[in-house]
Amino acid sequence: MTRSRRAPVAHPHRDADCLSVRQGRLFVEDCDTVALAERFGTPLFVLSEAQLRRNVRRFAAAFAREWPDGPVDVLPAFKANTNLAARHVLSDEGAGADVYSSEELDGVLRTGVDPERVSVNGGGKTRAHLRRCVAAGVRITVEDVDEIARIEQVAAELDATARVRLRVKPPLPNLWRRTDFSQLSVPIDLGFQVYKSGIPAEYLVDLGREAFAAPHVELVGLHFHAGRHHPSLWYWEGLMTRYARLVGELCRAWGGWRPAELDIGGGWASPRDPHNKEFSRAEFVATALGYPFLVGLRGLGERAYHAALARIVPALTSHPEPQAPPSIEDYAVTATRALRAELDRQGVATAGVRLQVEPGRSLYGDTGVHLARVKTVKRQTRPIPYAWVLTDTTYFFLAGGVFEHNRHPFVVAGQADAAPTLRADIVGHSCFADQIVLGAELPEVVTGDVIALLETGAYQESSASNFNALPRPATVLVDGADAEVVKRAEAVDDVYARDVVPARFAGTRAQASAAEVGAAEQARAR
Ligand SMILES: *Cc1c(COP(=O)(O)O)cnc(C)c1O
Repeated sequence: MTRSRRAPVAHPHRDADCLSVRQGRLFVEDCDTVALAERFGTPLFVLSEAQLRRNVRRFAAAFAREWPDGPVDVLPAFKANTNLAARHVLSDEGAGADVYSSEELDGVLRTGVDPERVSVNGGGKTRAHLRRCVAAGVRITVEDVDEIARIEQVAAELDATARVRLRVKPPLPNLWRRTDFSQLSVPIDLGFQVYKSGIPAEYLVDLGREAFAAPHVELVGLHFHAGRHHPSLWYWEGLMTRYARLVGELCRAWGGWRPAELDIGGGWASPRDPHNKEFSRAEFVATALGYPFLVGLRGLGERAYHAALARIVPALTSHPEPQAPPSIEDYAVTATRALRAELDRQGVATAGVRLQVEPGRSLYGDTGVHLARVKTVKRQTRPIPYAWVLTDTTYFFLAGGVFEHNRHPFVVAGQADAAPTLRADIVGHSCFADQIVLGAELPEVVTGDVIALLETGAYQESSASNFNALPRPATVLVDGADAEVVKRAEAVDDVYARDVVPARFAGTRAQASAAEVGAAEQARAR
């Protein structure tokens, strides 16, 4: 085995990492993860307060240093992690927020965020949602061509001024590498164009004029978010160059208008970037090796066929060693330089322009780990050898990773520096295939061992669902050697809480619920 056994824990910025291995155990700050699993139960989401504070400060400092032209706001994407306790940490640090739904707006406003630093995104905003935005004094990031008219109506009714930005969608023909968002080989440019968000460039000039003519609307700037199609600095250079070119075109079309603020969105990679790693060989299978080849192998006869499959399977489930993405500081240098250089070429003065950044995964990713216990280890030797480590969690609790083809790095929490001897899929206990880490290489594990999935702070918990009626796990916030529950685990009654059973079923002989059975058993045991 050539892989370094410390590789899964390695963080490109070791002095800025909440994880450490002490006497073979994985720690989050000063909390032993095995002890956390014992105390709070599994599965469990764990968040590090120190990591979140450190990350948001790093973002603010890096962009402030590289953008002396004007003020800098960090507006973390709330959708990546909707825990209110975590959001309180960010509000305490002076961060704003990027929100989408009316409910997300409600969430961030509960944590004392400065409304001036909240951007409300999203298409199809209802009048009630817009009224709430105008009343709260947040930035409205316009997405629809009829939205300015609706905002003007609502703002006029409230006799208020709505501060808006247009979310733009430039063409990106300079971005030809493959987007990580698709399992197919699709260039970023095409991937971005088929993504629904952003106002197509053809409408922008007229929409701006409509905003200038609307007495209760003030167009304060522009917004652009393309997402994490690629982790490279090359990507950021290309994005910012095309954004700035569009800004220049609009400034000229609008008779010398200048943006007071430019939002460059999010889309930076998190330090152990798990993005698009799980099925990276699938494409190889589909194209080079191919289904017809696999089917053709059957001509060898059953024994030879299975022997061939056994040799191919490890190649199919293996994955390249992940490469560390650029640091926040490197991203800040490249993004701001490319933006400023092209704005200069376009004759758009940057002095005084407020720069806004909306990190999601790069801010939250390494603040979280997900703890699961091994339920059983299952092996087969025939017709092809295979093994599974069945855990008490499910990829339905890590759904963001499934949508984005993540391969989460992992550590066996109680033997964090043991050499791997077992090759198995780490799977969840739902009835789906529930492959959490395909082809994992791990030390020999037994029932009860705790596995920590890393880089789960962004998008995983916020997209968890209840498939198989599995109650969603609790979240604990670690602060040094302390840890406390900031979201309680669901109970079976929570899973069925929204069900409304029509009265005509009232006569049905109901079975005692699992909770009642459990309570009765406990009473008997006493
Ligand atoms: C999701 C989102 C972000 C965050 O994206 P990441 O890739 O997680 O950094 C930022 N801005 C907007 C408008 C978004 O929709």
